[in-house]
Amino acid sequence: MSRSSELLEQSRRVIPGGVNSPVRAFLAVEGEPPFIARGEGHHLIDVDGNSYIDLVGSWGPLILGHAHPAVVEAVQAAMALGASFGAPTERELRFAELVTSIVPNVDQVRMVSSGTEATMHALRLARGATGRQAIIKLDGCYHGAHDDVLVSAGSGVATFARPGSPGIVATATLTAPFNDLGAVERHLREREVAAVIVEPVAGNMGCIPPRPGYLQGLRDLCDAHGALLIFDEVMTGFRLARGGAQELFGVRADIVCMGKIIGGGLPLAAFGGSRELMQNLSPVGSVYQGGTLSGNPLAVAAGQTTLELLGQPGVYERLGEIGAGLEQRLAPHVARYGMSMARVGSMLTVFFRATAPQDFEQAKECDLAAFGRWHRACLDRGVYLPCSQFETAFLPATLTNAELDRIASAMGDALDAVMA
Ligand SMILES: *Cc1c(COP(=O)(O)O)cnc(C)c1O
Repeated sequence: MSRSSELLEQSRRVIPGGVNSPVRAFLAVEGEPPFIARGEGHHLIDVDGNSYIDLVGSWGPLILGHAHPAVVEAVQAAMALGASFGAPTERELRFAELVTSIVPNVDQVRMVSSGTEATMHALRLARGATGRQAIIKLDGCYHGAHDDVLVSAGSGVATFARPGSPGIVATATLTAPFNDLGAVERHLREREVAAVIVEPVAGNMGCIPPRPGYLQGLRDLCDAHGALLIFDEVMTGFRLARGGAQELFGVRADIVCMGKIIGGGLPLAAFGGSRELMQNLSPVGSVYQGGTLSGNPLAVAAGQTTLELLGQPGVYERLGEIGAGLEQRLAPHVARYGMSMARVGSMLTVFFRATAPQDFEQAKECDLAAFGRWHRACLDRGVYLPCSQFETAFLPATLTNAELDRIASAMGDALDAVMA
């Protein structure tokens, strides 16, 4: 029995399912999750001594790899000065200045500790500012684990959402298929909607890019109907471009949610918008929002160092090359089995389906069992991929071309092993 297996069995006694976030249990793929002992750059080493090239990066944050020396040093230095004060610090000020200088259309930010909090408070701000209740979310988009947004697709056509989990109250959430402007417009006509929240490039149903004009279409619809547009850039922010999807697509959001990369692997997230809108937040305005560990010094140190490193020339060009390079190398393997791929920058998904899906309904048509076998075959060949068809790989900026060759041939071999 492997050490990972032993630890999983022990964990199941004291942690539900043995994991602190459900997807980690590997229920959608073959085999059990390796328990990770440490990370070194873009490599993971598990408790049995197996080493993997990590294309998950803690689900996005570790774009520069694990234990980057500059990040380690910054966090150690911050720790020596005290872990948390529950009082303002100059560090937060400088970090807020940095973030607002990078992210378009964000004059002010509030720091929180998770992407879930960022979207939760963004939606409350939108409701408080507009005086409206209803929100629109797009099927298959994930915005964290709070009630308003944890609703499943239900029928493909836009309908009142049904909760995606027992215990959820989401009576003011309307849903529409991703990439379908008509469905959003119908809701906006019928209801007073506070906000439309969207992943500008969907990453939580596999990587699904917006159709040309879709994001601008959402912008125009929101303007026409007095709703706010929230870009949930928890995944895309600081990844698709330094200024995120707003910069890449040239579309303005009213509220931007940030997470993952912004904390450099520590618990930090943020939401922001125009000064006028953000002034609705307590203590200036009446919309309450707060958190004991918000703006935590260690998390801010990790985030600030990460964003500064990402500001070095050529990082985003290289991320684009890495994405394109892997896509190119995988293309013949994927074509051999009549499958498809989607990629935006360094987000990439191999779909077990003939054409890349445009929305969640199509994504659900993928051969999930085959994906589950392939995932294990990749792991056996030293490539650590997200453990669900409905996720995107997060390529780190540090991969060399020789490693891209190795990764593509391992993934191709794995396909041969499960599909031939
Ligand atoms: C990961 C993610 C979240 C949730 O962030 P947590 O830090 O896990 O709460 C929200 N939105 C998007 C788009 C995400 O990818």
